[in-house]
Amino acid sequence: MLFSSGWLPKAPLQPLHLDWLTRSGIEVAILRLDQIDPLISGNKWFKLIEHLKAADLAGANGIISLGGAHSNHLHALAAAGKRFGFTTVGLLRGHAQITPTVQDLQAFGMQLHWLGYGGYRARHEAGFWTPWLAQYPDLHPIPEGGGGLPGARGCMQLKAMVGEQLKSLGWDDYDGWWLACGTGTTLAGLVLAEAGDHPVYGALAVPGDHGVAQCVDAIVQAAGLYAPAYKLLEASLGGFAKIDPLLLEFIDQAERTSGIALEPLYTGKALLALRQQVEAGKFATGTRLIFVHTGGLQGRRGFPSVLAG
Ligand SMILES: *Cc1c(COP(=O)(O)O)cnc(C)c1O
Repeated sequence: MLFSSGWLPKAPLQPLHLDWLTRSGIEVAILRLDQIDPLISGNKWFKLIEHLKAADLAGANGIISLGGAHSNHLHALAAAGKRFGFTTVGLLRGHAQITPTVQDLQAFGMQLHWLGYGGYRARHEAGFWTPWLAQYPDLHPIPEGGGGLPGARGCMQLKAMVGEQLKSLGWDDYDGWWLACGTGTTLAGLVLAEAGDHPVYGALAVPGDHGVAQCVDAIVQAAGLYAPAYKLLEASLGGFAKIDPLLLEFIDQAERTSGIALEPLYTGKALLALRQQVEAGKFATGTRLIFVHTGGLQGRRGFPSVLAG
């Protein structure tokens, strides 16, 4: 297959040991999407799978997509292009700048175009893609972040990945999923895969008015599922990419205790929100949860002083 979207990486499922979990008698296993590959990391690979299949079917030679100068989506896409040998073009928000992410995109061979801020805001307008597809007629466009029903479908396989590894933890079942949400696409994929079997808890990395619930509902309804079992919780600390010293200290401590690296925009906030719920007694003793490590560690190089190393 042209894009090797048949590549089925396996994310390890491991016990997560933290004192506040032990104290409350809650067991958490962490699904390490940050460990599927040395270069291609996180939920963004799973969100790409169905888009790559569609590109393959359309006979495209590569992919054109959008993102910011720290985008985990463009990073995963560029890394996949490099790994599997297809062309990638990135349309970037803002004006040309060098970040660790941008350096990687260039090293992976992604061709970059900087759209400015106004130009990037136009990305949802009718006709936005017309000039780009005229310039790159053999490329397949993917919307920002690889969202929508195709993005969610690619995330459905996470359920099976967990199911295969439960025995190795000595678990016969689990009581729910916990993960960070940006657009809610990954959560929607889990909701679809579960079809009501287990609840999915989403810790919002964006403020509550970003329409995540609408996005999730649109995806699950498009897939024909009408009674989705999920719950969204505020975890953004007042805004996407807002960080504070308490969060950074919490991450630092969690990393030391668990030996697992986190970043402050998604996974750190999601784990902090879980601690708040656990300490508020929202989960009964004996509850077993799957925490999805959605990756994003490449992006934390954008916060050099506090999280270096
Ligand atoms: C993009 C991203 C998310 C959010 O995924 P959605 O499918 O948009 O909800 C969570 N964690 C990390 C590390 C991400 O890069």
